Amino acid sequence: MIRVLGVRVDEYTMDESVKIIGDIADDFRRGGAPGQVVTINPEGVWLALGDAGLRQLIERAALVTADGAGILWAAQKLGTPLAERVTGVDLLQRLCAAAARDGRSVYLLGSAAGVAEQAAARLRESYPRLRIAGCDNGYFREREAQAIAAVAQAAPDILFAGLGMPYQEKWLAAHLSELNCGAAIGVGGSFDVVAGQVRRAPLWLQKLRLEWLWRLAADPKRWRRYLTIPRYMRAVSREARAKK
Ligand code: UDP
Repeated sequence: MIRVLGVRVDEYTMDESVKIIGDIADDFRRGGAPGQVVTINPEGVWLALGDAGLRQLIERAALVTADGAGILWAAQKLGTPLAERVTGVDLLQRLCAAAARDGRSVYLLGSAAGVAEQAAARLRESYPRLRIAGCDNGYFREREAQAIAAVAQAAPDILFAGLGMPYQEKWLAAHLSELNCGAAIGVGGSFDVVAGQVRRAPLWLQKLRLEWLWRLAADPKRWRRYLTIPRYMRAVSREARAKK
């Protein structure tokens, strides 16, 4: 485990993360505890600095993966480099591939009405053997108890929650014991991407670590979120200098 501004980030690669999450789900089937997975980006680190509850749930999580170029940049700068990004949308795809192979079921909870179903249809095309235990949209505040009961009834091995950060993290932490799922993971706007509602940055841009720029161009309303980035970078640089 490494720390970025004191916030936990695990060092696992994508392959290792997929294996760990599969193991948590299989362990739950055998009576083990469920586990929450957090994919953390610089915005999440920044929020956690000012939010003790968020920081604690990150500490207690079964796995915290490095989502975003800004985490890799910080890890490098702090002398604890990470091998690769483990983003929510990539994890979703890889976990579905592994679930189809190993017979695990998944549940898609989040995004606007119909998007999770559309994402599920796409996933079924890619992984015909994938067991989709259920889908629901992420606007269930007035029917929260039913939404939780529906997941618990479906008893998925893996629950993907695409409710936006940090709401999805807090919601999963608060309800993990009622959801009757093995592993629960917050995946932000991933269903929108999988459903084809939002186009992901081309690979060459991802390799240049400029996916964030693509997302900003696609949705200029996101600019506010990026305001924290210069502050994050300054804080990391300060920490790196202090470490030397
Ligand atoms: N969303 C939701 N319920 C809510 C608020 C948001 O399901 O109450 C969904 C929203 O439709 C979108 C996702 O959460 O699909 C947030 O996507 P974003 O790319 O903003 O993810 P973040 O970076 O915030 O995790």
